Parts: sequence; structure tokens; C-alpha cells
Amino acid sequence: MKSTMQSPPLLISTLLRYGTTVHGDSEVVTWTGEGSRRITYRELGHQAAQLAHALRGLGITGDKRVGTFMWNNAEHLAAYLAVPSMGAVLHALNIRLFPEQLVYVTRHGASEVIIVDNTLAAPFAQLLEHLPEVRHVIVNGTVDEQTRAALGSPGHVEGVHDFAELIAGQPTSFDWPEDLDEDDASSMCYTSGTTGNPKGVAYSHRANYLHSMAVAATLGITSGDRLLIVVPLFHANAWGFPYSAMVTGSTLVMPDRYLQAAPLAAMIESEKVTGGAGVPTIWNDLLHHLDTNDVDVSSVRMLMVGGSAAPLPMIQAFDERHDIDIIHGWGMTETSPVASLAIPPADVEKGTDEYWAYKASQGRILCGLEGRIVGPDGEIAEPDGQTVGELEIRGPWVTGAYYSNGTESEQDRAEMAMKFDEGWLRTGDVGKLSANGFITLTDRAKDVIKSGGEWISSVELENLLMGHPEVLEASVVGVPDEKWGERPLASVVLKPDSPTTAADLREYLEGKVAHWQVPERWAFIDEVPKTSVGKFDKKVLRQRYAAGDLT
Ligand code: ADP
Repeated sequence: MKSTMQSPPLLISTLLRYGTTVHGDSEVVTWTGEGSRRITYRELGHQAAQLAHALRGLGITGDKRVGTFMWNNAEHLAAYLAVPSMGAVLHALNIRLFPEQLVYVTRHGASEVIIVDNTLAAPFAQLLEHLPEVRHVIVNGTVDEQTRAALGSPGHVEGVHDFAELIAGQPTSFDWPEDLDEDDASSMCYTSGTTGNPKGVAYSHRANYLHSMAVAATLGITSGDRLLIVVPLFHANAWGFPYSAMVTGSTLVMPDRYLQAAPLAAMIESEKVTGGAGVPTIWNDLLHHLDTNDVDVSSVRMLMVGGSAAPLPMIQAFDERHDIDIIHGWGMTETSPVASLAIPPADVEKGTDEYWAYKASQGRILCGLEGRIVGPDGEIAEPDGQTVGELEIRGPWVTGAYYSNGTESEQDRAEMAMKFDEGWLRTGDVGKLSANGFITLTDRAKDVIKSGGEWISSVELENLLMGHPEVLEASVVGVPDEKWGERPLASVVLKPDSPTTAADLREYLEGKVAHWQVPERWAFIDEVPKTSVGKFDKKVLRQRYAAGDLT
């Protein structure tokens, strides 16, 4: 029997319309360095409509692409809502990619109009001559004459516009098309996970819609929440939080370019932030700041962390010293990205070993998604919480392919095809899955250290080391070894002037992991290199080792 239910398409414009009317009084706060500027959701809705009219005027019709090269701020949010809602496709460019990668992804995605923050306009201008598809540049904020001229100089650029001037006078409502297909692309993101060129994922309206509901419901986000969105809009859609905020009406606190611990702490204190989202390195820096400065963080109930494994000592330190609940989540660009969130089962008592094991796990798979563990020979394991293998995942906000425009190299095509296993996404992450849906990852497949036929988890060593009171950051990679094939090399950042030695750290690890897993190679460095989204960059550490810079 067919249901009798209506089935309007699940569109981003529904979230936009709902959030900016029903929750019209909620606010978007953008940090300015000295303080903040704020607009209501109602005003945000007006801005989104004005921007959509302006973009139509610049020839953005159908599913044309609009790129952004921006920090997290109110104008970026307006684009984030307006572009998909008008039927076009948003491509938030990762401002921290290397120029060649930026050129590759921008051209591959084929953005015709790019909106750029004034503080990023000068570096962006240098790329423009390599981006022949870009016809218009919209600058958010004022730029000097020289930068403006540089933006306008490539022959293919038809116009350089000021964001505020361009939208001023445009109607504050827009007839958001209702006949879009919910499976059409709303936005796109590229992942740098593999060896070749970045691979594109095209999100659908439906995927983003369902994902925003699942995240909001699982985290219990409400209109009373004031969310600090540190994760950039260009890092897998800021993990969908702005869309979840439209669903719930929670206030959004956007840090713009002020991503260091001190301004983040100031935002938390003055904006009475209740929740946030960011990668472990961001919250780790904040933790050290809070430990040494008097900051009122009593408003915070939870900070979500994901993107790489959150060390348990960090999760515990936030809880014990600052009464902040860190919620660990796992996901990938390919999974929209949030696929699991670590909220321990209700009957597990807080503070027990079991509780902390749940908190440190990658979390329980969200309703709608399915996961499975696949062994080296392709055998599918029972979800017994013990068997280790590659995690595969599927569901309505998991990509079923990479975006292809037909120009990819043979190698890229081969890599793209390899990621799929009869309807499942191969995550490249190694770990276990329990019967109650919790994922515990031990490593990325490519980061596992194979020593004498046995596996060493680089993540386990890192997490233990970061629990040492003198250690600020630690990253462990496998390096070639004549006898064992590979051995772990630990690169450690100590607190300033710390007398701690490699021998101290080895002794600290003894008894916590098997003796043969304790690294004998140590490097004391000033900072662990980070990727474009703030994860430890193991590729760079391996290269440094190969170049003889680390021993
Ligand atoms: P990139 O590959 O460019 O880093 P993504 O941001 O999509 O792109 O990274 C996804 C990967 O990040 C996952 O496959 C996993 O290896 C890692 N990851 C994400 N969240 C976690 C987590 N909570 N614990 C461990 N690893 C994580």
C-alpha cells in the first residue's frame, strides 16, 4: 500500500525559511577582534535573499557553482544558505590548501563567481589568473585600490564587486524554487585523503537536510544554545552545524579569523557560549589556555570534537578542571560528515573506566547509517566489539561516488573507484564495532605501524603521550626499519623549558602498552605540522624523517 503522506522535497531552502522566520530573533554573532557584530536570523534571511538576487544578476542560474574563499562569518553564512536555496551549488574553498590544489579544486568544481573576504583578497588575487572559469569576484569588506586592481586584472574577470554594495537595494525576499529535486547537489567539498588530486563530494539537499536533523537531535541542540563554530565552513560544511542551527534556532557565534585560544576564550566568556565544534588541536590549545588564565567558561555544556582522534586525557581534563563535556564524533567529508557521536549509554556510570572508554571511542553510529567491519580478505565481521578491520559505512548522507567532470587522471579514477564496495563506502579507517553501535578506531589504514608482523596503533601511543603532564602535542608515525620493517617514531612538543627526556617518556609508556610497542626513536620539535584543516600532518613528518630532519 502506498502511504497517504505528502512528500515535498527536502530542501535547504526549507531550513532557511524556517530558521529565518520562526527563529527570526535568534542571532549570528561575528567576532571582529575587538568585539562582535551581530545580526538576527531574520536579517540573515534578508541578506540571503538579496545575495540570491545579486547572484542571479551575475548569471548564476540552474546548477552553476558559486565558490567562497572566506572565514566563518555572517556573510559566509548568507552564501551558505542562499546559494543552495536558489538551486545553485556552493563550493566553500579551503583557504589553507596549497595554491596548486586550490586551483585544481576550484577549476574541477567550475565556480563562476567567487565571494572572498577582504582579508583573504590579496592571496586570492594571486590565484585568479589560473582560474579562467571565474567571471565575477565579490569582496566582503573593503580592500585597497591595488588589491582591487589585481582582482580585476585577469581578462576573464568581468567584474569585481563590493558585497554590501552589490546586495544593497535588492529585494529582501526571494522566491526560492520549490521544484528542485532533493537529490540535486546543494554544495560540494573536496577531500585530501588520498595520494592523487583531491576528490570531490557533491552533497544533496536531502543528505544535508537529514544530516542536520540527526546531528541536532543526537546532540540535543536547542534554541537556548549558543554555538561557537570553530570548524570552518569549508571543512565538510562546518559539520552541518549552521543547518542544524536553522532547525533549532540556536545562536551562532562565528570566530572569523580569530582562531587562537585567547580570542576563542574571550568569545566563550563574553557570548556565553554553550557549545562548540572543532578539531582536537583547537580544543587542546584552548585547554592549555584555560589552565593558565582566569576565564569564565561556566556557560559551556558541551564541545564537539572530531576530524581526528581526541585524546582521552584531553577529554578528562576538560571535564575535571573546567566542567566541560567533550563529545567525540567521527566522520569524513564523504559522510557529510558526522556519522557517529560518543554519548555513553545512560546506564553507564560517569567516571568509571567503561564511561571513559565510551567517551574516547569514536561514538555510536547515528540513526539512518549502517556500519560494518571488513577483514583483510573481505570477510564481514560480526559487530562483536573485538574484531579489528576496515570500517565500511552506508546511508542517506554517505556519498555513493566521487564527483567526476570527466577530466580526472587514470590514477584518480582508479582511487575513486576503489573506495566503494557494493554500495558501502570504504572509510580507510581501521577499528572495531560493537553490538550497541559504538565505533572504536585504532588508526587510519595508512597510519598503522607494522612492526615485525604486528600492528602498532599510532593513535594509542599519541593519546597516551598527550596524557603526560609535560607534553603539549605528540604525533607518531611508522618509519622504515631494517630489522622490523617499520618502527614508531614519536615527535613530541613539550611545555616550554620542560626538562623531560625521551627516557622519561619511554618509562612513562612502559606498562601502558606492550614493551615492544614503546618507540625508541624520538624527536622533540616546536610544533607538530598540521594539515589544512588542523589535523596532525603525518605525511610531512614522514618526509622530514626521510630527509634526515628527524631521527
Ligand atoms: P582528510 O582525509 O582530508 O583529512 P576528512 O576531513 O574527510 O579529510 O577526514 C576524514 C578522516 O578523518 C576519517 O577517515 C578519519 O581517518 C579521520 N577522523 C575523523 N574523525 C575522527 C575521530 N574522531 N577519530 C579518529 N579519526 C577521525
